Amino acid sequence: LEDFTYHHALILGLAKSGTAAAKLLLDSGISVRINDYKANPEDPVVQDLKEAGAEIILGGHPVSALDGIDVMIKNPGIPYDNSLVAEAEVRGLPIITEVELAGILHKGPMIGITGSNGKTTTTTLTHEILLKSGKQSSIAGNIGEVSCEVARRTNDQDTLVIELSSFQLMGIERFRPTVAVLLNIYEAHLDYHKTLENYRQAKAQIFKNQSEEDFLVFNIDDPTIAKFIGEANAQLVPFSTMQKLDKGAYADEEYIYYNGEPIIKRDEVVLVGEHNMENILAAVAAAKLNGATNEGIINVLTSFKGVPHRLEFVDNIEDRLFYNDSKATNILATSKALSSFKQPVILLAGGLDRGNDFDELVPFLDHVKAMVVFGETAGKMQQAGEQAGITAIKKVDNVEQAAQAAYELSENKDVILLSPACASWDQYRTFEERGNMYVQAVHKLK
Ligand code: ADP
Repeated sequence: LEDFTYHHALILGLAKSGTAAAKLLLDSGISVRINDYKANPEDPVVQDLKEAGAEIILGGHPVSALDGIDVMIKNPGIPYDNSLVAEAEVRGLPIITEVELAGILHKGPMIGITGSNGKTTTTTLTHEILLKSGKQSSIAGNIGEVSCEVARRTNDQDTLVIELSSFQLMGIERFRPTVAVLLNIYEAHLDYHKTLENYRQAKAQIFKNQSEEDFLVFNIDDPTIAKFIGEANAQLVPFSTMQKLDKGAYADEEYIYYNGEPIIKRDEVVLVGEHNMENILAAVAAAKLNGATNEGIINVLTSFKGVPHRLEFVDNIEDRLFYNDSKATNILATSKALSSFKQPVILLAGGLDRGNDFDELVPFLDHVKAMVVFGETAGKMQQAGEQAGITAIKKVDNVEQAAQAAYELSENKDVILLSPACASWDQYRTFEERGNMYVQAVHKLK
């Protein structure tokens, strides 16, 4: 970490990213102070860091934690109105997140991927395509390891593919991906960023340090992105699901193209959903810019079933297609999943009751032939189904029973889709646990 110019770091928020950053800095001979208001002093992680020489302040955010500090490394989830962050701003201290460290460590090509939705899917696809093209690639982000930890192992032959949230991007100084990817900007996360303008600016951080040698892959169909893309210095590489492009990636009814060359037929692609086509095009462009081959792309797209729990193809049992979309914890996500299919769907939905109803789901239920409902919202789901004129609606206790019941209601060619439109916490610890239970139950049907 010889290019890191600071000497006394305060790590705010321990979690996974703080721990990785603390270890890295300690190993590099930088003095580390850690502040976390809820970590347990007996936790072995805390003990280890203490033994390695970190000063630890737990229980609150005393202002004195900033004394003698020349940089703050903030957990991305901690908002800027946190008292200590606000004080650091008053004192003019740089406030960074651990991705900045990854950017300093990694000397090879780097693909940074951001957007409101689709980051994990696109990051995974890009990494897989590079690997299948015979390239060295390392992945970092939500589903894997913290990026500064991964960057400790990479060499300059490696492409580092990083998923980046806007929270992480707000804490960069010099971070400069050789290929940046901007997927979409929705009015999500406004509770943290307060205004769409702030959120937009956070996303724009991804290209702020890029120069003419770098590339910016962007969704030309997204009006918010199209508006500010002119601020970028990098070479622009658009992708589109709506218009033919001579340069960049696009898809028509028949093929997926890159720079005008057809690469793969759409009906050979396993991943479903128009939103996933955007992710695929972004991944194709980013991977191509890093030396991916058409064979590598074809190999991945004909086999990739989706990131677990995100409209993931589970199995084909007697010509019934089972999908797991347990990550769909709200109406918008479930409506996207439903719009991904033209054939008859049996929808498995329900979960934690947040006090809302499901009227907004009704327009998307037109090709839903049956529903299996469960959890706290089972009754409300049933009402939505009845509003849509669905007569076959079954109430069950859990997702295992739901898989069984759906199978009994199904005919050849049906899609059986777990896309709950609700959080899982009424019955399951996480959406992953809910999805895993469902997937196991599906495999048992065989
Ligand atoms: P992220 O990492 O940004 O949360 P994921 O790849 O994990 O994104 O996908 C999460 C959910 O977001 C998916 O289940 C789907 O409902 C939705 N989604 C994925 N890609 C897109 C996209 N390009 N546009 C809109 N929604 C998407």
